[in-house]
Amino acid sequence: MAWLFSRNKNLTPPLKTSNNVAVAVEDVYKIYKQDEREISALSGISFTVKKGEFFSIVGRSGSGKTTLLNLLGAMERPSKGNIAINGKTLGRLRDKELTEIRRNEIATIYQNYNLIPVLTAFQNVELPMLLIGMDKRDRRERAKKLLNIVGLDERMDHKPDELSGGEQQRVSIARALANKPTMIFADEPTGDLDIEISQEIINLLEGINRDLQTTIILVTHDLKLSNRADRILKLKDGKIHSINVGDGNNIRKKEKEVRIVNDPSYY
Ligand code: ADP
Ligand code: MG
Repeated sequence: MAWLFSRNKNLTPPLKTSNNVAVAVEDVYKIYKQDEREISALSGISFTVKKGEFFSIVGRSGSGKTTLLNLLGAMERPSKGNIAINGKTLGRLRDKELTEIRRNEIATIYQNYNLIPVLTAFQNVELPMLLIGMDKRDRRERAKKLLNIVGLDERMDHKPDELSGGEQQRVSIARALANKPTMIFADEPTGDLDIEISQEIINLLEGINRDLQTTIILVTHDLKLSNRADRILKLKDGKIHSINVGDGNNIRKKEKEVRIVNDPSYY
């Protein structure tokens, strides 16, 4: 009877959020059933992320970080509780409407890059624009510009297995920007990269946040990286352990004049 609380518009009250809230999470639970056992991945999570915020989620392996990000990204539905993305209560939406949110409002970056292996870097970046029916010339031009922003214009025709980990993650950032998302979720995007390359990837995400006001939610193990966020949510055993203020505001205020690219039409 899961549909009773997950899909019925009449039974899911809208989550009231103010205009400056990107993500609202209210008393969310996620319970997985495995054989006869129930696993509580998340138990009673509530928080909000403001538009334009650089928000970080930390916690040990198994604490529920990926589960939470999947729920926020409308990839899965919570067992109980509610989530609103840009004021839209996910529990009230049909699958088709959730797909639209995933295509147009949210972009996700993964630890293992999740590029399509048979497509070139260029084609990987082009794909999300193809899916929303963007005109061929526009999407080709845009794919080139985006690969240029992430510093990969020389490598456009390479397939993922011909690129280094750092380069593949740059392609996935270019792909994430394709449909001008209002928010980017990154699940351990630097988990497989060495320190120097990790810093370059984080610099790109910070530039996107600062210059485009894209809301970023970054899941990371690395406490030094998470401390660069505006706020840091710490998960413990599927519950919120703490929410603390990070250095983000200081860091990005200082770099206010820097632009990852000067031409606003790129976005
Ligand atoms: P993290 O990303 O913080 O490492 P996860 O969100 O992946 O944690 O997992 C949280 C808990 O939920 C873990 O105990 C994990 O084994 C369990 N879990 C995650 N996904 C599933 C699933 N599809 N089926 C069963 N259990 C799952
Ligand atoms: Mg995880």
